[in-house]
Order: sequence, then C-alpha cells, then structure tokens
Amino acid sequence: MRERFDVVIAGAGPAGGQCARDLAARGYDVVVLETEPEDEFPRQSNKSTGGTFPSMMASFGIPDDVVMQFTDDVVIESPNDHFARERPGAVLDFGAFKEFLVEDGRQRGAEYYFDARVSKPIVENGEPVGVKYNGSEEVYGDVVIDATGPAAPLAKDLGVTDLSRQNHAIGIEYEFEGVDLDHEGYADLHRSMMLRLDHEYAPGGYSWIFHTGGDTAKVGLCYIRNDSYQRYAEVDRTIDGYLDHWLDTDPRFESAERIEGRQHRGSAHIQPPTNLSTDSFMAIGDTVPTIDPLWGEGINKCMQSGRAAAKTVDSCLTPSNPDTSADAISLYDELWHDEVAPDMDSRLLMTEMLYLAPNDRYDTLLSDLNRLDDETLQRANAGEKRAILKLLHASDVPLLARLAKHRRGR
Ligand SMILES: Cc1cc2nc3c(=O)[nH]c(=O)nc-3n(C[C@H](O)[C@H](O)[C@H](O)COP(=O)(O)OP(=O)(O)OC[C@H]3O[C@@H](n4cnc5c(N)ncnc54)[C@H](O)[C@@H]3O)c2cc1C
Repeated sequence: MRERFDVVIAGAGPAGGQCARDLAARGYDVVVLETEPEDEFPRQSNKSTGGTFPSMMASFGIPDDVVMQFTDDVVIESPNDHFARERPGAVLDFGAFKEFLVEDGRQRGAEYYFDARVSKPIVENGEPVGVKYNGSEEVYGDVVIDATGPAAPLAKDLGVTDLSRQNHAIGIEYEFEGVDLDHEGYADLHRSMMLRLDHEYAPGGYSWIFHTGGDTAKVGLCYIRNDSYQRYAEVDRTIDGYLDHWLDTDPRFESAERIEGRQHRGSAHIQPPTNLSTDSFMAIGDTVPTIDPLWGEGINKCMQSGRAAAKTVDSCLTPSNPDTSADAISLYDELWHDEVAPDMDSRLLMTEMLYLAPNDRYDTLLSDLNRLDDETLQRANAGEKRAILKLLHASDVPLLARLAKHRRGR
C-alpha cells in the first residue's frame, strides 16, 4: 500500500510551515517531511535573525509570544553617518517561531514527519508523484512541494531551480549581552533594527545590530562572495574573522559577551528564479529563491510564496476533475511574480549597485537619505526609477560602468 496525501511538502521552514497551515485549514491531507529530529528542532535550521514587520505578523496570525523585542525604528549606518526612520517591527525568536508554525499546523490537521531527510522525487510517466526519504522510504502526493531552502534536492533534480555558487550569500550572527546601544557618536539603537553598510566589516554585504531587550542584541553580518567581495575583502579573513574584527574595533562591543548557545548561521542565493514549477510540482521559499535581495527580508516573502502555493493547490484540486498539469500549476508562477516578488528585477539591480559602491559612497548615500522626503524614499525602495535617480550623482558614472560590466559578466 502506498502512503498517500493530497500534498507532500519537504522542509518545515517558514515557507513549508505556512503552506501546510493554509492547506490544512482548507481541509487538505498534507504531510511535511523535515530532516531534523523533533526533539532538537530547529537546530541547524535555526539560522535567522528574525527581523520582521507587523504586516507579516497580521497576515499570518503570528502570536506575540514568539517576539523577543518589538522595535520602533530602522537605522542604516555608513562608516561615518547614520539615518533613522520610524518603522515598527519585531525581532522574533526564530526557533520559537518555527515551533509555533509546526504546532499550529498540526492543530489545523497537518501531519509532520521529523527525522525525514528527503533525497529525490519519485517520477512516473515523466511526472513527480511523490518523494523518497531516508534512503528507501516513500510517500506519495497529488502535488509535491520543495520548501527545503537552499538545499533544494527536489527542485534541482527536476531542473526547476539552478542555484549558482556565485550568487551564494552567507551569514552568521551571535546574540550578545552588555552591548552599548546608545554610544556617543552613533545612533541610539534601543528598540531598533540597524543595518550597516561598511566593507571593512562586511565586504560586498552588510552587518547588523538588532536590539533584543535590555542590553542584549543580535549582532551579525552577511555577504555574497562575488566581484564586490573580491574587491573589498582581506585575503585571509573568514566570515567569523570579519565578525571578530567588528567586535574588536567598534566601541559598542567593548563590554559585550556572547550568550552561550545563541548563534545562528545560514545561507541564501541572491538571484532571479529560473523556473518555479512543473507538472504536479512547486518550489517555494528560498529554494527558488524568494528572499528580498536588498535587505534580506526572507521570512515574510517565503511565507507569501507558501500561501501562493496553497492557493494554487486549492485551484488545481477543487474541480471535479483535478488538474495538476504544468499549465494549471503555472498559476503559482503568476502569483509569485504578481504578488510575492513583483519588483524582483529592479531590487536585484539596486542590490548589485549598492554592494559594488565604495565606503565613501555610502556616506554620500546616507546624507542623501537624510535630505530626501519619506515619499521619495519609499518610491526608491520600491524600485521606482525616477526616485532612484534622485539618489544618483554625476560622479557615479564609473560605478555604473562597473555595474554594467558586472552584469555582462553574469
Ligand atoms: C544569518 C541569517 C539572518 C537572516 N535574517 C533575517 C531577518 O532578520 N529577517 C528575515 O525576514 N529574513 C532573514 N533571513 C532570511 C530567512 O531566514 C530565510 O529567507 C527563510 O528562513 C527562508 O525560509 P524557507 O522556509 O524558504 O527555508 P528555510 O528556513 O531554509 O527552511 C528549510 C527547512 O527545510 C529543512 N530541510 C533542508 N533540507 C531538507 C531535506 N533534504 N529534507 C527535509 N527537510 C530539509 C531544513 O531543516 C529547514 O527546516 C536570514 C537568513 C540568514 C541565513
């Protein structure tokens, strides 16, 4: 007897967990296979800083008890300047948040198999009909979904995703106590999420301090090992070495101590998706990848992609003659491009330009941000060209030439 569900999801991250919640709430039989054992979950996959905004919390019904700290402002720092804007947010305990998604999914009727490492799709007559896990074990479904993040064993096997090494961003973070959150000469970081553009600490990327209450904070950095990294990096410094360098040279960390057992590390790909789906199959979350390239907001985007996949399943399986052909499933591609990441191309362009810019250009950028009104900034952040032009200067011609060369190289 084949073990069968309406939908089989690989991976219990924000994307897979949310997709399962939505499907179970609509009465579908759904199973989520997660590689980590339940008693340690999430361990290696507890990778995220968990910075998010009220729109995500409200859209997906996330309770306050997985929030470590509500924040009031977003701050951007350059080597010699800072810019602060009021924008309410929340820093999640990412592990508690993932546990909530599992518990809530179960209450709605989803099944979870832990310690279940998915290795490849089962394909019959050219179509995926299930997955293999833990070697020879099998589970079948009308629709199969890969939500394993950058691992992507199903999407890679089916040729749906092509995650390339040159677009691989890595990140690490530790939680600290004893951080001086209001040091002279720097912005007040109490109740703030701060992102720092400074190649000395994150070559071709950015670093961050997210307040988590009292004198504690999450402190980390990420970068992509591409041309921009090659241009600004020290030859022998690892990502841990960069974090140590920041901790050793920034006075805000003079009395800071690492909190035992509270470290997070992980990766994502910063690139446009090649494909998103095929017959009876969808790739969601960072398998695609879906993360916002500019500021790394992945949780909300990945959950939105999980919801788009659930809507697609509902549309394909509701008719009296269910249709899970590539054509019917391509509703997911439409929803992804229209609703989940409508401005992906312009945000990728802005990302490449930002991380190619030198440190002194970051100071100029911040002085422009402080000068421009909120509406223009919001339009620029949304990728509107006329607003972005207000942030460019005649002296940016060599930077734009480098950007064009970088894009041709890709
Ligand atoms: C250091 C760091 C900091 C970040 N900070 C933020 C932030 O502040 N705000 C924000 O919005 N985003 C942040 N992100 C991004 C965000 O965490 C990701 O975009 C999001 O977690 C992706 O969700 P996902 O469900 O697609 O994949 P993942 O979170 O990667 O989940 C995939 C799940 O699949 C499981 N899995 C993997 N392989 C298999 C397999 N073969 N079989 C079965 N299960 C498998 C994993 O164990 C995991 O549970 C950060 C990322 C990193 C690395």
